[in-house]
This record gives sequence, C-alpha cells and structure tokens, in this order.
Amino acid sequence: MRRSAAPSQLLKRAQQHRLPFASPAAKRPCPTPQEDVPQKAEPQKQEQSSAVKVRSASDILSVISKSSTLEENGTKNENENFSSSEFGGQSNSFTQDVDLSPLTETNCNVSHHSNVAGTKNSLGNVRSFNAPGRQLAGAHRGWNRPQLSGRPPNTIRSLPGEENQAPSETKYYAVVWCKLSRKKHKNWEGDAILIVKGRSVTLKDLEGKEIGRGSGYKLKDLGSLEEGSTLPVGGKEVEIQNVISAESYALGHCFQGEVTVTEKAESSSRLPKPKPKPFRLPTLGRPAGPACSSTEAENMPLFNPSLPDALVMPRPPAQHQWHHNSGRTSVVDVVVDPHLASQLRPHQQEGVVFLYECVMGFHLQTGCGAILADEMGLGKTLQCITLIWTLLKQGPYGRRPVVRRVLVVTPSSLTSNWRKEFKKWLGKERLGVFVVDQQNKVEQYTSQQHTPVMIISYEMFLRNSEVIEKIGFDLIICDEAHRLKNPAIKTTHLLASLPCKRRILVTGTPIQNDLQELFALVDFANPGVLGTPSSFRHIYEEPIVASQQPNTPLTEKELGASRASQLNRITSLFILRRTQDIINRYLPPKAEYVVLCQPSETQQALYSEVVGCRSLRRCFTSLEPGDHLSAILALRKLCNHPALLAVSEESENKNELSKEISTFMPSHLQAGVYDEADSGKLAVVSCMLWALREGGQEKIVLVSNYTTTLDMLASLCVRYNYPYLRLDGSTPSAKRQKLVDSFNNKCSTDFVFLLSAKAGGVGLNLVGASRILLYDIDWNPATDLQAMARVWRDGQHRKVHIYRLLVTGTLDEKMYQRQVRKQGLSGAVVDARDSERVHFSTEELKDLFTVHWDTACLTHDLLECECDQQGGSGAPPQKTAQEPERACQLGGAGNITIDAAHPTKTMDQLQNWYHLAPPLSSTLIKDHCLEAASDFVTFLFYNESRTEVVKQ
Ligand SMILES: [Zn+2]
Repeated sequence: MRRSAAPSQLLKRAQQHRLPFASPAAKRPCPTPQEDVPQKAEPQKQEQSSAVKVRSASDILSVISKSSTLEENGTKNENENFSSSEFGGQSNSFTQDVDLSPLTETNCNVSHHSNVAGTKNSLGNVRSFNAPGRQLAGAHRGWNRPQLSGRPPNTIRSLPGEENQAPSETKYYAVVWCKLSRKKHKNWEGDAILIVKGRSVTLKDLEGKEIGRGSGYKLKDLGSLEEGSTLPVGGKEVEIQNVISAESYALGHCFQGEVTVTEKAESSSRLPKPKPKPFRLPTLGRPAGPACSSTEAENMPLFNPSLPDALVMPRPPAQHQWHHNSGRTSVVDVVVDPHLASQLRPHQQEGVVFLYECVMGFHLQTGCGAILADEMGLGKTLQCITLIWTLLKQGPYGRRPVVRRVLVVTPSSLTSNWRKEFKKWLGKERLGVFVVDQQNKVEQYTSQQHTPVMIISYEMFLRNSEVIEKIGFDLIICDEAHRLKNPAIKTTHLLASLPCKRRILVTGTPIQNDLQELFALVDFANPGVLGTPSSFRHIYEEPIVASQQPNTPLTEKELGASRASQLNRITSLFILRRTQDIINRYLPPKAEYVVLCQPSETQQALYSEVVGCRSLRRCFTSLEPGDHLSAILALRKLCNHPALLAVSEESENKNELSKEISTFMPSHLQAGVYDEADSGKLAVVSCMLWALREGGQEKIVLVSNYTTTLDMLASLCVRYNYPYLRLDGSTPSAKRQKLVDSFNNKCSTDFVFLLSAKAGGVGLNLVGASRILLYDIDWNPATDLQAMARVWRDGQHRKVHIYRLLVTGTLDEKMYQRQVRKQGLSGAVVDARDSERVHFSTEELKDLFTVHWDTACLTHDLLECECDQQGGSGAPPQKTAQEPERACQLGGAGNITIDAAHPTKTMDQLQNWYHLAPPLSSTLIKDHCLEAASDFVTFLFYNESRTEVVKQ
C-alpha cells in the first residue's frame, strides 16, 4: 500500500517542470484504477482516486505532499483535502436523480424499484470518502500507472458504491422514443441515445440535449436490455434499437453533426504532402505548356508536372471523381505555376495543397471551406493568391478551371495591400484585379469580363451585397476573418448567405481558444459541419468546458477529453494553423546585443534625487497604483533623457511627483533640447547612427514606447541631417503602408525609421532595415519581440542586428531582468494587452527604485559569473557541437541565486551569451556601430544565432 517514493518524485518533477500536470486527464492517457484495484474487495477506492485526480495541479501537489505526510504519520484525517460541500453537492444531485413518478403507473417490462437504492447509493458515496488514507494511496497509484490494456469495449468505468453489482459499466443504446401511453400502437417521435449507468438511465436527443432521466431500475432489467426492449424513462417510453459502443459515445459519433470524411482525405489531411509524386503522363515528352491546342489541352496539365520543382496538387479521390466527373473527362494534374511555386517556402506549399484539397471538397463530403489561421508573417496572402491563380486557370477534370470569379473581402485598411500583393506576385498583365472604392463601383465590375478578382472591404460589401450576390462568385476569401465570429451581425449574415460553397477564412488570431467563436467561424466556412449551435453546445462545448473545471469527476474529464480530441480531429480537416517557429529556421542569422549604457552625470544626479524624493517614497505605502506607475514613468523618461522629464506624455497629468521633480531640475534641461551629453543612451544611439551612416547603405529602425522619446530621436535625425520616417499611433492607417513601402524601397534615401512600439501591431514589414534598436524595453517581452519581428522576418535576406539599450544600474536593468526571468530570452508569448498592468509588492517596488551606480552591469553581478568579461577565451555564445565550451560557463542553476520566488533557469540562458566589457574588442563582435559607441557602454551581452537562440 505504501508508495512513499512516488509522491516525492512527482513533487520534484512537477516543481522542475513548473506544473505540466494541470490537466492530467486531458493530456495523458487516462489511468484506469479499476484495473489495478481488486474490484470487489475495495470498491470505494476507484471513486476516491478519481476524486483526487480531477483536482488542479496545485491541489494535486498539495494532496501529494499531504499524502506523503499522511502515510508517514498515518493519523491525519484526510477531510482536510476534500471539502464537505463537494460531497454534499454530489449526494444532492444523486437524490435529485430519483424521479420515479411515472414508473408506478406503467405496466412496462421493468418493474418499479423503490428509491431506497438511490439513498443507499448516496450514503455509500459519502461513506466511501470517509475511509482514511486509502484514497490517497489510490490516487497516486491511479496517476502513476500506465494504462493497462484489456478494458471491455463497452465500459467507460464502473459505478462505485453499489454492493453485489454485476454490470458496473455504463452502456449506450440507440433508441426511439414516444410519450408514455397505454396504447399498443406507438407513435415514435424521434431517435435518441439512452445511457444506462448502474440503476439510472439518461435519455438524450440527437443534439445531445437531455430529454429524460430515471433511476431506481432493477439491475437485472437494465442488464437484459436488447433490441426491441422497451423502458419507461421519465414521461417517455423508449424502444431499444441497437447498442452503441462507449467509444462512439465518447467521440460523439452517435449524435447528429458527425462529420463524414472520405477515407483518402483523412489520411492526406494529417500530413499534407508538399510535393506529391507527379504522375507521369502518356503525353510526356511533348512540350507541356499553355500553348496546346484545345483538344490536347484537355488531357495536358498546364505546366509540366514532372519537373523536379513542380508543385503538383493531389488528384481527386475516387469518390470525388464519381460525384464530380460524371462526363468522364480525363483527370489532369493540377500544377502550380512554376513562377509562383518557386517562390513558396515549404510551409506555404503545404498550405496551398491544404487549401486546394479543402475547396475542392476532398476532405469533407459536405463542405468546401477552409480556415487558414497561420500566425502573422507566414505569408497567408501569398498562399491564397497562389490558390486563386491556380483555380482560375486549371482544374483536375479536363483542365477546366475550377473557379471563374473570386471575391476577396478584407478590412478597408488592407484592400490596397491585397491589390499590391497580387501585383507583386503575378504582375499587372496576368490577372485583372478590381478594387471597390469610391471611384470604382461594384456595378462597374459586372461589365469587366476579364477581371476575375474583386477586392472589397467589409463595409463596402455590406452596402453592395445585393449586387454582389447577383454577380455570382465561385470562391470567397475573407481576410481578418475573426471579425466574422459573431453570426448575429449583418455582415456575417450576408456573407454567409452568399450562394458560394468555396470559402476561405484567413485569420492570424488563434481561434481554437473560444469554442463559441470556433463554432461561428467553422459554421461559416463549412455550414453544418459541426451540427446546429444547440447540438454543438451539448455535444462539444458543455462536456469540454465541464471537463476543464476543477473537481470534475474522472468520467466527465474523460468524456470532455475525448470530445475535444474528436472536435480537433474534425476541425483539423479544414483548419490550418502554423506558428512563427516554422519559418525561423529559414531566416537569416541574427545578432542580439543588450547594451548597458553609461548614465550621464546629469542622469545620475537627477536619478538619485528622484528616487529619494518624498512623492516617490510615498508609493511604498500608497495603495493607489497610479502613484508607482507615475514614479516608474518618471524614471524611465529619465533613463531615456533627463530633459524628457520636462515634457508631458499625452495621457499624463501633472502630478505631485512631477511638480516636485521640477523643483530640482537643472536649469539647462529644457523641453525640446536634447543634448547627447546628458543621456548615455542618446550618446550611444548618436554614435551608432553616425558609424552606420559612414558605413554605407544599411538602414535602421528605432523603437520606443514613448512618443516624446520618438520626438527626441527625430530631433537627433534633424540635427545630423539623417533622412527619417516616423510611424506612431497618430499615423493614419492609409498612410502607414506608404511609409513602409517608401522605407523598404531600395532606392529610397530614408535612413532611420522611427517606430512606436505599440503602433506597429499588425503585419508591419520593415525588412528594408537590417538593424533594429529598442531604445526602451517594455515590461512585456512579447511587445519587444513583436517589434523585432518587423525586421527579422520572412523576406529579410541580410543578417539582422538587434540592440536593446539599458541604462546601467537603473530601472532599465531591473525591467530587463524581470523580462528574462519571467519569459526567458525566447520570450514565450504572453498576452500583450496586459503590459501596463504590472503589479508589484512593496518589496519589489523598493528594489525597482534602488539604484546601483557602483557597477558596470547589475545583471552580470546577479549572474555571479566569474568570467573575464571578454567573452571567455574567444568562445561561443552557445553550447553547440562544433564549438567549444565557454570559459565563464559556471554551469548549473544551483550557482545562481537571484530571487527565491523566481526560477533562475531563464537567467541561465543569458549566462550562455558573450559577456563583454569595453573597450569592445573589434575581433569578437565585429560590429562597427557598437564599437563607435564603446566609450558610452559599460557592458555588453551579445549572442548570435542562425536560428532561434533558446528552444526549451
Ligand atoms: Zn560572465
């Protein structure tokens, strides 16, 4: 019984991995305790173990740790671990189940059983939880053991607590039902599912909604149910049609809305083949190309499928040919235009194949929709354009084009972007594109025979939907499609009612986190594939959501998990989502620098005064979050440039702190006059820009979270005649694309791009620059990563340099440490919206506001690294096979203590970077920009990688 090793190991493991066990039932194969517990001897144990299992991870940990003490002491009452209300609730609900009213008046073949059984059962349940010690032992047994095979196919699990029970499993039957009556001739009203569990039954309609229940039946009667048996359930009577397997029930197969897929499609959808083997055609050897005569054309692919780089679409499955090629025209390979195919990355090729299979209806029998939910920056537009171009020119049956007209609906800010993308990839001549705007009315489009593509904003679509419906499109593409998640709004409704089966929804927003939204989008793309809203709710949403609640019984966890995986299986047939990770490996190398800047004398003096001033110290006792936020803001401005303290940010009110600061502001610091000598960071930037400008053609993006800081950087550019562009929150969306295009243009003379960290939200592409400098970092590493992704992204061909500037010993450094500790250098994405809502304890605030002038790098001090600060002996930043170990590598996390509350693991990653003190050795970093700024740099962390630095 005693298993003392397990809990301690688990606890250790869970701590190490920071709780990957949050939902053990959902993620791992569910252990089945009944198989390792002798059932008759200790029937209570099963229920107990499941009660333990369903708890949240922290509860599990506490249970485990308690259980180990418990096993050692053997005296503690486990009631501590289980709230009595929980069991009260359980027995209550059981009592409610006892609804036998109609049974007494029927002459059915199942005799009435008194509800004593129910009471006994509920008592049995309660009693079972009072058995001390055992349940906990059972808990880790159930949790630890791998699942044993040999569970009877119709069983989910046994019902506990009932003595002398033989059929302890849940059984499922397909039934027909009608109102309870004495009539001989029954008028069956519908199909339903009967769930038999112990002495109770539940009746659900085909949408999963409960329509009746009863309990107190005789086990013998329930055990002998077979085809043709009848049974009263509530006020209804049912007749058994056939047995349903537990698996079918768990997956929701037995309900309506189960999706039918073709065999072939299912296998291909799991692993979309980027390049299926080209079919060799009998006509091979002749020049394959557009210049064929019409009779030959039918049998010839448009492009040569046998070329090594040809991207050939999968052929239609037999079933598809049966339905869609009744004329028995020859099946021709659909080959993507080599002009486009050669530009597609592998994941984009996969995407095009996937979309093709979806809109052709290879995956589903009932729908031709797809949802392309790739993360931002993976080239969703290009994948769509490739598909459009392919379908407009080709088709598998006699090469007939699959579509003639295509409608692209986008937010108004993206219409011109779509036009430009078409032009970029296909040129003006190949494909006519009509963009609806003030000048170009929808009505004009109808007269344009040779313009197959129409691009329209959602707003314009709303105004013109009637005309558009008449035009008749064969393929609709909705960009930023998460705006269609509300089926009640008019745009969604009108778009959904267009008579066009082929629909592609494009969105970069993850859509699988909210089941309602998921349903709305899926139902738009493939109407009905997940059933009605009501059946979706009963069959998927409710069990899945319920299974994620703490204290859910194991059976419900299992049901939720299998419904979730079933839902996932269905949706993966037409939803494709890949993350940024997939292309990082194709990106050019990047060098990252964390540059510790020497604070100027003015900065040091002012900083010490500000952190000592009365208004700032007040926030240690104040409960008003505004107080410490304004203190943080003041210090961050001071780090950027002391003169910024004289300027108010837009949203900022004159508060007491700024009034107090103005009393000791040096007189030479005036708003709008930014001397480099007064700010270490500005001095560094100034030197870097100068060196970069001298060095040649490279461009740089400067990022700040503050518009006033951008003003300051703009004035620096003006002073030295550096041509610059600026994009911030006030830039109208119509102008943004122009700015970006201008900057990325190789011929443009723009040298600096000033970017507000928060304005660069969606899809800004600044690959014209190969360097990006974060003048001030954000609390949230995701914001910084997004900024970096403007430059280090698909389409970038040069090595990218990323600089983060921090003022040595100040709040800057502490913010960076917080970033690193929290997220690691890879900066696993957190919700970017919460970056301003950071909460601090008084201790944390005191630490944040403590300044350290006596160090070259506080962060390096914290690492307790004893390196030579010259990057070791020319050693590498990363431990890779080809490169030797770094000299200052201290190894294990045990050596580094920063904060007991935070794991130091992520700081280890910084340990693996180069640690450099000035003068910055030119041989090592080879960065002429930074070398020029060496005088103002106190320390440097540096890392270079071909791929993402940290993958853990
Ligand atoms: Zn070091």
